[in-house]
Amino acid sequence: MATTVQTKTYLNFINGEWVASESQEVDHSLNPASKKEVVGYVQKSTERDLNHAVKAAKQAKETWRKLSGAERGEYLYKVAQILERRLDEIAECATREMGKTLAETKGETARGIAILKYYAGEGMRKVGDVIPSTDSEALMFTTRTPLGVVGVITPWNFPIAIPIWKMAPALVYGNTIVVKPAGEASVTCAKIVECFEEAGLPNGVVNMVTGPGSVIGQGIADHKDVDGITFTGSNSVGKRIGQAALARGAKYQLEMGGKNPVIVAADADLQLAAEAVIAGAFRSTGQKCTATSRVIVAAEVFDEFKELLLTKTKELSVGNGLDGQTWMGPCASESQLNTVLSYIDKGVQEGATLLTGGKRLENGELADGFYVEPTIFENCTQDMAIVQEEIFGPVIALMKADSVKEALKLANNVEYGLSASIFTTNIQHLLSFVSDMEAGLIRVNAESAGVELQAPFGGMKNSSSHSREQGEAAKEFFTSIKTVFVK
Ligand code: NAP
Ligand code: MG
Repeated sequence: MATTVQTKTYLNFINGEWVASESQEVDHSLNPASKKEVVGYVQKSTERDLNHAVKAAKQAKETWRKLSGAERGEYLYKVAQILERRLDEIAECATREMGKTLAETKGETARGIAILKYYAGEGMRKVGDVIPSTDSEALMFTTRTPLGVVGVITPWNFPIAIPIWKMAPALVYGNTIVVKPAGEASVTCAKIVECFEEAGLPNGVVNMVTGPGSVIGQGIADHKDVDGITFTGSNSVGKRIGQAALARGAKYQLEMGGKNPVIVAADADLQLAAEAVIAGAFRSTGQKCTATSRVIVAAEVFDEFKELLLTKTKELSVGNGLDGQTWMGPCASESQLNTVLSYIDKGVQEGATLLTGGKRLENGELADGFYVEPTIFENCTQDMAIVQEEIFGPVIALMKADSVKEALKLANNVEYGLSASIFTTNIQHLLSFVSDMEAGLIRVNAESAGVELQAPFGGMKNSSSHSREQGEAAKEFFTSIKTVFVK
């Protein structure tokens, strides 16, 4: 596909200005649909660049926090309007940069706009409670105060929505921020930051520094002037960030991996379940933390369900996300593709049966990109890597269970607990699932991926630091409570 964008170099955004890194080096961000296309060059920043950004955020924090919530919210409304105007352009950029289809990136940008509007309104909602004192002459209440400087470290898989769902609440509750986006999504993040710039936020309130995670991300976690860190990404990186933050007493929030199960009960609407499994497992090329990766089916309907799944999988068109006919785009990077292929190999070696897919796609134009077939395994056992580990690709491990009770046991038998679905029409099954499934997001007759911005989002077990994002839950992380006693 011919490129229409000129390759541009993006700078860091520090104290209201776009500045080059002192390293004078750049990294390139590639299009995973066509590795010949460089989507943009971004700064390969150093610790000194980060220090400048943190200093700017620190300087800006007193004035920013003294504004009213409504005033801060007004800025977010403006950002929402600017993003609305730039929706098509930013969605296309995200598709070029990380590969998911244009329909998905447009939907994601629309989600970003809705999040900005939601948190703009949050600037006028309550921040505390009056609590009756045992002293009849005293007034006791709670109020909230921002953390100060918040470091925002984001992954590439939702390059628009995740930065926004962290930046918007951080800002409206009065924090200033330093954002470090994933290498594979830095151009898209720069465009989002441009929207904040155009909205006229005071200098230093929003800063962005791009560069290696081991330098800039770790630098944020270790920085004495960063008061809070909000992170979404892998477990290995998240754990390091948590340890660094804990060591110096900073507040932190980690949203990490998943190994999300779908249970299909014998009484389920199988058509509905099959469609939801396909969407949950293969949309965004399986690169969602809430993606379906294990499907546990009642033995009575296993064969019928398997056939439905295989028929639907064979209908999926894989290709460049910019092409309107494409249903599933490439993996976001070569290393992501290699990870997926190595898990597929492991699945075969460990004795699972490959039902469909399993190969890299390299015919015609696809040879230039990082494409893999949607893949389904059966005869999967609990000890297999494809059953236990997050793959972050379009791979399903299909399993059989004799009862919903057994299915639940299998579903819970992983270290993760982000999202889980059941398909059933039986109220007892539904209630057992809600009660016994170890996951932060419980979905009934709906795909495992899918969240609403006004509801709490986050996982149990190793999927999260047990904190929640989005909706009102964001307030818990981005503020501290003060209990006030007035005599
Ligand atoms: P990742 O490799 O952990 O990277 C996430 C972010 O951390 C990137 O900005 C990365 O920068 C940075 N980073 C890397 N090393 C670091 C270090 N030592 N210290 C501090 N920061 C560092 O994750 P990813 O590959 O971008 O994203 C995929 C993962 O995110 C999956 O595990 C997925 O489940 C998870 N995820 C979770 C949720 C959720 O809400 N639970 C949502 C979406 C994704 P570089 O890009 O420069 O390496
Ligand atoms: Mg990475």
